[in-house]
Amino acid sequence: MEAIILGSGSGVPQTDRHLSSILIRKEGSSVLADCGDGCTKRLLEHKISPDELDAVFITHYHPDHVSGLFMLLQWQYLAGRTKPLYLFLPERPSVIMDILHIMYTFSEKFPFKLHVLDMEQTELYFDWISSTNTDHLYGYANIIREHSLHNQMKSYSLKFTGDNGDLVYSSDLETTDCIAEFITGVDTIIVDAGHPDAEQILKLKYRDIRRIVLTHGISPSLQTRRDELDKDYFELAREDCVYVV
Ligand SMILES: [Zn+2]
Repeated sequence: MEAIILGSGSGVPQTDRHLSSILIRKEGSSVLADCGDGCTKRLLEHKISPDELDAVFITHYHPDHVSGLFMLLQWQYLAGRTKPLYLFLPERPSVIMDILHIMYTFSEKFPFKLHVLDMEQTELYFDWISSTNTDHLYGYANIIREHSLHNQMKSYSLKFTGDNGDLVYSSDLETTDCIAEFITGVDTIIVDAGHPDAEQILKLKYRDIRRIVLTHGISPSLQTRRDELDKDYFELAREDCVYVV
């Protein structure tokens, strides 16, 4: 199994990093975890054909994780993709379909079948991929309640099982504690270092994880403790590098 980080930037656009997106390949299967703005161009740079992807997983609906989805679908539609595509969404899939309709993008016109599914159904379709809900969006509870909104505060981490171990992509987190059980025994974790407190990242080195890859920027509190990011345990995400598990 291999993972290629197409985008490792935070939600603040930068000139030297792309927005969140990771390509994972395993035994002839290819999936994309998150679709930050520009992910289609990144796929083209890696010479990915419109038919290669089997599934797309959107961990949560912040723009830096979902904004590239619409161009990805337009590309596959106009490029004449024929293979079915499985799209796993964190909550309210029908709202995403409504957004596609606003953009005059109608799945009925696609030359391929688009299966729109809830993230909780992942393992039914891909037995080597699982997900767990995280605490990333819980801070919105008050505003959602106050305005009687339908947001469900769903944000997911994903686990990919390879022949030689598991890889977890945490996506965005408030704490790493919320995925403590999920990452037990994994080989590699690509973890959000931009949101959690320094302590939440530094404690990962006691978890017996072979490779801890820090993505999505470095939080201010971790910046002040950068000298504690022991190179034996931590590495900064490198876009285009192939991480093999
Ligand atoms: Zn983000």
